[in-house]
Amino acid sequence: MERIRGIILFLDFDGTLSPIVDDPMGAAIPDKIYTWLKKLSRKRGIKIGIVTGRSMQDIRKRVGLKNIIYAANHGMEVYYKGRFILRKGRTYRRPLALIAHRLIKELSAIPDIYIENKGLSIAVHLRRVKGNYHIRVQSIIRATTRPLLKKYGLQLTGGKMLMEVRPALHWNKGKAVLWIWRRIAPGYVPFYIGDDATDEDAFSALRPCGITVRIGRKIGSHAEYYIPSLRTLAESCLFDSGAVTQIRFRSENRRFE
Ligand SMILES: [Mg+2]
Repeated sequence: MERIRGIILFLDFDGTLSPIVDDPMGAAIPDKIYTWLKKLSRKRGIKIGIVTGRSMQDIRKRVGLKNIIYAANHGMEVYYKGRFILRKGRTYRRPLALIAHRLIKELSAIPDIYIENKGLSIAVHLRRVKGNYHIRVQSIIRATTRPLLKKYGLQLTGGKMLMEVRPALHWNKGKAVLWIWRRIAPGYVPFYIGDDATDEDAFSALRPCGITVRIGRKIGSHAEYYIPSLRTLAESCLFDSGAVTQIRFRSENRRFE
């Protein structure tokens, strides 16, 4: 058996590192978590990867730490040690820009809507939009994108208060974490923490070979464990001694202690 060299800790951003806020541009890592993350990022035997649906520019600016692997746009782009090590789907940028332009026009009458062109995907944020507009927004998005999705090889996906137009590539957070793990940290035990639908792909991918933890319990989740919030973990000494690989876990789909 291969010797375990350390841990590669993958973290989602929104709802995991940062609390969910109404304005996605206002999301930030709380001080205590930031200090914990910074300390971990300097530890030997620990590698950190942040895996998010945000754009690369956004996530790098928002976290601002070096020595971290950044996987943006649901893992389509990976940046590490000063350069991109993966850039998928560049040919989608033009059609996505066209669709973003159309969506901005079609949705201009909806109060508090926020349409974000992330380069490799478009996000329509509904968190601040009043509930009675949601169905209308969804049907406008469907009608606007329908003729273009197939033509350009794109897909429409939905998340928590968010609809996204993304390349219909068979690529997701799960494929991305496996790619990063094999390429950057073979011999390291993967540890994944996330809270949302897109993290389920990563839970499924890593569950057979690593530790998967969901923020908040959810029946049917592919994560093996759950914790109430990342703070629980940051306040524990779990990663301090490097002893995480020896931890005995309690039973399945239970609280992680
Ligand atoms: Mg999340």
